[in-house]
Amino acid sequence: MQRIFFFVALCSVAFLVAGCGEEPAAVREAEKNREVIEQLPPEDREAALEQAKCPVCGEALGSKGPPVKAEVGGQTMFFDTQSCADSFVRAPAKYRSKLTE
Ligand SMILES: [Zn+2]
Repeated sequence: MQRIFFFVALCSVAFLVAGCGEEPAAVREAEKNREVIEQLPPEDREAALEQAKCPVCGEALGSKGPPVKAEVGGQTMFFDTQSCADSFVRAPAKYRSKLTE
């Protein structure tokens, strides 16, 4: 009986450790798309990987081809598609709040 308890405890510890080390889904997705993101100029790569997801639709950057770069209010941002970039440029305030969530 004690043996089973020990086994269960060990499993939950392993699960917790694995769970804590996990990156957010969007960051993992962006890592998966690293090859696509690396088609960007070197100075944009790190920023795109760090941003990880499109602020408009929440899709991982690079999932629909190289991220689209746009300057919004002096800030460089990346989007998964040109249409997302256009939406953001039209209504930055609406989407900007999503980024800090
Ligand atoms: Zn998007």
